[in-house]
Amino acid sequence: MASKVPKMHVLIVGGGIGGLMLGLMLERAGIDYQILERSPELRPLGSAISLNGTVLRLFEQLGLLEDLLKISKAAGRLHLVKEDLETQGHIDLEHFRERYGYHSIVFGRPDFFQMLISHIPAKKILMGKRILSSSQTELGVIVRCSDGSAYHGDILVGADGAHSSIRQCMHKTLKEQGLLPKSDSEKLKFDQNCVVGITNELDPEKFPILKEELCELYGVIGKKNPYTVSLRTSLHYRILFASLHSWTRYLLDCFG
Ligand SMILES: Cc1cc2nc3c(=O)[nH]c(=O)nc-3n(C[C@H](O)[C@H](O)[C@H](O)COP(=O)(O)OP(=O)(O)OC[C@H]3O[C@@H](n4cnc5c(N)ncnc54)[C@H](O)[C@@H]3O)c2cc1C
Repeated sequence: MASKVPKMHVLIVGGGIGGLMLGLMLERAGIDYQILERSPELRPLGSAISLNGTVLRLFEQLGLLEDLLKISKAAGRLHLVKEDLETQGHIDLEHFRERYGYHSIVFGRPDFFQMLISHIPAKKILMGKRILSSSQTELGVIVRCSDGSAYHGDILVGADGAHSSIRQCMHKTLKEQGLLPKSDSEKLKFDQNCVVGITNELDPEKFPILKEELCELYGVIGKKNPYTVSLRTSLHYRILFASLHSWTRYLLDCFG
C-alpha cells in the first residue's frame, strides 16, 4: 500500500532532547529527516527529569515506554523542607497512576539522552555541524555550517536551545521586513545559573531512603536567599540533585 505521508525532508538543528525527540517521532512516522548538531560528540549531561503520568501515553505510542521505565523510578511524594530540614508540607504524586493510568516518573537526564539516541539510526545525526545561517528559497530552506557545508530541506526546525541561531536568523529577516514583534526583540527574561549533578552509587545502609521502591523528591528552600536545592532518589542507589528551582519557592508560598 502506498504511504500517505507526503515526501519531504526535515532539517533539525540541535541534537538536544527536543531535537532527538522530534527525530524519533519523524522516524516512527516514516518522514525523512536529518539532525545537525554543533558538538563534535554527544555529551549527556544533567540531573533529574520528572515526567507527569499524563505524558507517558505518548512514549507508549512511540514504543519507548518499556525502555523509559527501565531507567526510571515512580514518583512517591514531594517533600518541601526548610534549610534546617523542618518539614513544610508534602504533595502526594502516587495518585497519578489511579487517575491517568501511569505513574509520574523520575529519571536521570543522561540516561534519557542515551535511551533516545539508541532509537535513532546513527546516520541521522551529523556531529560537528554548527549552523551559522539559514535562508528560505522557493524550493525550501538552506542552512550553512561553519565547516563550509550546506544542507537543503523542505522544513527547518530550530531545536538549538535557548540562544537558538535559527531563531536569530528568523528575527534578522523579520526585522529587515519590519515584521518582528516587539516582544521578540526583548532579551530573555530569565538569567539563572543552575548546578546539577548525580552522585555515585551510595551505601543504602547509610541512606535507607535509597532502598524505597518509589522516588522521594525533596525541595530544600534557602532561608534568606533565593536558592533552593532539589534532591531525588534514583535507581542504583544514586541521588539526583540540582540547585535553584524557583518553582519550589512558589510551592512554599502556596503552603503559606
Ligand atoms: C547541560 C544541560 C543540563 C540540563 N539538566 C537538566 C536537568 O537535570 N533536569 C531538567 O529538568 N532539565 C535540565 N535541562 C533543561 C532541559 O533538559 C532543557 O529544557 C532541554 O534540554 C531543552 O531541550 P532543547 O533540545 O530544546 O535544547 P538543548 O538541550 O539546549 O539542546 C540544544 C542543542 O542544540 C545544539 N546547538 C546549539 N546551537 C547550535 C547551532 N548553531 N548549530 C547546531 N547545533 C546547535 C546544542 O549543542 C544542543 O545540543 C538541562 C539542559 C542542559 C543544556
